[in-house]
Amino acid sequence: MTNPINLFSEYQHEKVLFVNNATAGLQAIIAVHSTKLGPAIGGCRLYPYATLDDAIFDVLRLSRGMTYKNAAAGLPCGGAKGVIIASPDQKSQALFEAFGEAVDSLGGAYFTAEDVNTTTEDMNQVLNKTRYVVGRDVISGDPSPFTAFGAFCGIKAVAKKLNGTDDLHGVRIALQGLGHVGFDLAHRLAEAGADLTVSTHSNRSNMAVAVNEWGAKEVSDNEIYGVECDILSPCALGATLNYQTIPTLRCRAVAGAANNQLLNDDCGNILHSKGILYAPDFVINGGGVINAAQESFTTYDREKALVQVENIYNSIAWILDKSEQTGKPEYIIAQEFAEERLKVGSINS
Ligand code: NAD
Repeated sequence: MTNPINLFSEYQHEKVLFVNNATAGLQAIIAVHSTKLGPAIGGCRLYPYATLDDAIFDVLRLSRGMTYKNAAAGLPCGGAKGVIIASPDQKSQALFEAFGEAVDSLGGAYFTAEDVNTTTEDMNQVLNKTRYVVGRDVISGDPSPFTAFGAFCGIKAVAKKLNGTDDLHGVRIALQGLGHVGFDLAHRLAEAGADLTVSTHSNRSNMAVAVNEWGAKEVSDNEIYGVECDILSPCALGATLNYQTIPTLRCRAVAGAANNQLLNDDCGNILHSKGILYAPDFVINGGGVINAAQESFTTYDREKALVQVENIYNSIAWILDKSEQTGKPEYIIAQEFAEERLKVGSINS
């Protein structure tokens, strides 16, 4: 693993706050990567990291990813992330209130939200100590259906590029991970007539619905990569597109909701050289933050959010076309697009 100290200078974070509150049992890191476009937004992940380096590495990468995601989504928001170093059984009101105090100490530079292993109920405890929380259950609510809707729109754009039509009837899609996002996405795809193959670790009841009600075919964790299909849709963990999996792929495109799908840039180049289209993760999975971020800068309007999420179709179509025209991998086109917005934002600010 890269020494995280090197990432401090490479990623150019504006601020990284280390929090230790012994009374509340809180050890956390908040990384504010950029506020060039506005207050930085990013979820609060709770995870039992084995080492402090692991936590630093994760929070620095994820917060930079949020800068790109929010910029590419056209939001007036920067990028940040919080990580709490703990396991889910260590959750307590005191822990989340102490995290809220840390968020509040940044004076509005960082808005937090639920993320892996945290819930909107946990965020209600954070709210006891700060108002800088988005995705509140009483306002925009669970982001997952919006993420799934955005991914669905992006998949349609990919199908259009592959087949000349965005009609999903008969399009063969292999979807990994039937969790909050993957299950909702699989439902939408099944309703649109896609031919589904699915795998999941947990959520066996979701698998039963997918197989028995939507006619999906179940495969094992490892088999999903080698399924002959039009689109592979990773909706589980990150780094699934790596040196082991890419040689086994038998898909024409990859388009799913998981964060950080590419192990590294090299894997994006390899995917491109194999002629497999790629819908950049931080663009196709922006639906949830597009919805929740509204709470930070305007009055929440669900219909307006849905229109913006639907625009992911156009963003993915534009990236795929631009990649074809320039010969550059799609992930580079998406990064350049986000960096361009950041430059304009910094001129205006
Ligand atoms: P989740 O924890 O609800 O679901 C993940 C699912 O993946 C679970 O069903 C789990 O069993 C399954 N899984 C894990 N490893 C697997 C493997 N190797 N093979 C098959 N299945 C596996 O998470 P979620 O909220 O649905 O998020 C899914 C992905 O989307 C994550 O990468 C997350 O970071 C990303 N994402 C989520 C949102 C959101 O709104 N929830 C927004 C943006 C990005």
